[in-house]
Amino acid sequence: MQKINKTGSMPDITAKWIKKHNTLNWNDLPFNEKEVLREQLHTEQHGLCCYCCKKISTKSASVEHLQDKHRHRKLQFSYDNLLLSCVSNKHCNIAKQSKEIKVHPLHTDCDDSVKMNPLSAQLFGDKHKKDADESIDILKLNHNELINHRTDLIKLVQTYLPLFNVCDDIYQLQENITFKDSFLELVKDFPQYRELEYIVNKLA
Ligand SMILES: [Zn+2]
Repeated sequence: MQKINKTGSMPDITAKWIKKHNTLNWNDLPFNEKEVLREQLHTEQHGLCCYCCKKISTKSASVEHLQDKHRHRKLQFSYDNLLLSCVSNKHCNIAKQSKEIKVHPLHTDCDDSVKMNPLSAQLFGDKHKKDADESIDILKLNHNELINHRTDLIKLVQTYLPLFNVCDDIYQLQENITFKDSFLELVKDFPQYRELEYIVNKLA
């Protein structure tokens, strides 16, 4: 999980439909209006799931209401309550259900609160430890499927470290900002770029 900056607002076509129909039922929103919204959220999140940060496509993603759409009906169409999640039935929005999470991708300290041990690929709470650990637990962000995926990404990072004359210790990416920037520059055209950037930022 990493901080998402909500820079946009509801796409025009979606906003117009909501205004015209004056409904508070999310399921009334037609496919096209939802699709435009999904595409915008996808761009805003650099193509990653809002919780597990795995690469997703707009076709394999669902719009997630950070605050539950049944309990907070007025926030159903609030752009700042909408995120894009993967559709795994093992973690993320399916695991969260209608629960509230205190550390989430819009939380100011999200980046400092959730960190990763590169040896085990496990996420853990750092700042706001108790709340962050609880969020990781609710979202099942240490599910085997996600651990395996992060392990593959860590291995990919490690493959390229010897190219730099710094040190092939992965922790150096966190401690040496120039090293980190050079590494990210090297992988910037990789299809996994945003996932690798996430992994490097989570090192602790
Ligand atoms: Zn996910």
